[in-house]
Amino acid sequence: MASDLRLPTDRIVRPDKDRFLAEENPFEAMMSRFDRAAELLDLEPGLYKVLRHAEKQITVSVPVLMDNGEVEVFTGHRVLYNTSRGPGKGGIRFDMAVTLEEVTALAAWMAWKCAVVNIPFGGAKGGVVCDPLGMSVGELERLTRRYTAGIISVLGPDSDVPAPDVNTNERVMAWVMDTYSMHMRHTVTAVVTGKPVEMGGSLGRREATGRGCTVVTKLALQHFGMKPQGATVAVQGFGNVGSTAAMLLEREGCKVVAITDRAGGCYNKGGVDVQAAIQWTRQHGTLEGFTGGDALSNDELFALDVDGLVPAALENVITTRNADKIRARIICEGANGPTSAAADAILDEKGIFVIPDILANAGGVTVSYFEWVQDRHGYFWSEAEVNTRLEDIMTRSFHDVLKLSQQHKVNMRTAAYMLSISRVATVHRLRGIYA
Ligand code: NAD
Repeated sequence: MASDLRLPTDRIVRPDKDRFLAEENPFEAMMSRFDRAAELLDLEPGLYKVLRHAEKQITVSVPVLMDNGEVEVFTGHRVLYNTSRGPGKGGIRFDMAVTLEEVTALAAWMAWKCAVVNIPFGGAKGGVVCDPLGMSVGELERLTRRYTAGIISVLGPDSDVPAPDVNTNERVMAWVMDTYSMHMRHTVTAVVTGKPVEMGGSLGRREATGRGCTVVTKLALQHFGMKPQGATVAVQGFGNVGSTAAMLLEREGCKVVAITDRAGGCYNKGGVDVQAAIQWTRQHGTLEGFTGGDALSNDELFALDVDGLVPAALENVITTRNADKIRARIICEGANGPTSAAADAILDEKGIFVIPDILANAGGVTVSYFEWVQDRHGYFWSEAEVNTRLEDIMTRSFHDVLKLSQQHKVNMRTAAYMLSISRVATVHRLRGIYA
């Protein structure tokens, strides 16, 4: 199938920053989890200080000649939070809400995520403050190339490997790769992941995050002595992650009783026809008008009595505002940062088993790693090989985190942070501090 190179018409609409609760600040959310895990690990003070700081933060101005002949200057950031275990890895987002603080938090998240699944990458993230949907393809290409040139000193298969994120896609990655390759004077496919398959992308990358969510949800059901057959699931977000997770969970025998996106969604006690919903969103952009069940709002979805809840849309959807209403047995965090740190305590009290984002949605970065490996070998795997290796890594990581959570009597999130921070800390201890 040819790559879909269009920017999505539906997209993540991020709430106005002024409406954020203090608990929703991404840097604070990440740091409060980090601090708790560091305390339980009894991390030595020096290392604690090192890991609380980003290694490198770059801010560049990005002048772009617009179609109307005027020059606009955008601001771009790239943060390498920690590269002790390998090259920086993390997406580039184009969004009006991008800030250096947010990019730094997301870069740290990537460092912990790569360490949870034990792939040899550090954490990085980038972003440009812009409204990509208000820009032409030509403007976006010029923006991408100039931003890439601005941060080129850190990019490279051995130093920093970007990927798509909010409002960027395969096409944007192709431009990043081409710009970098032009500067290097030869083609360097491994400098980005999430590329079109035709130019070194990996089979299975597009479905990888939803597939990873499905693997860990199945394992969590198993942990509670349940089978996927007949287990009820609600999914928020019906884009790449949500629709793939819904489709694969349905294929495993789960009953996907509710789906929503930013236009709302539907509830069907007998199970929503996921394929029909995918077909609908392909044609119409959102679930609006899809009649596969009773109309359902996003707020209502979170209060459903289901076995599994998969938030796969955006951050901060489970906060102190609604955590006490959640009745799901298991939450699988497909999205990044869907739960605020304050809400963690409420979910714990209710005995809800949360598979944290840094584990649950690590399927994407895992197959990005496979893409990088394949590019560097110049030898490409079949989709079945990619999926089998992904399932192995997700399964092993789930059990690693579960074991630690049982040993230390902590929830899965704290255990995931403990595992990843201890892995990063071990490498720092071995490498020492360069003087
Ligand atoms: P996407 O753009 O393909 O889909 C986003 C979905 O969220 C759409 O269905 C959209 O309608 C819905 N949505 C947007 N605003 C909403 C709102 N206010 N309320 C309810 N639904 C809303 O994005 P995606 O790639 O599926 O990513 C979803 C989440 O998963 C993000 O948090 C992303 O960071 C995270 N994630 C994605 C990947 C990946 O490989 N795509 C990997 C790791 C994490």
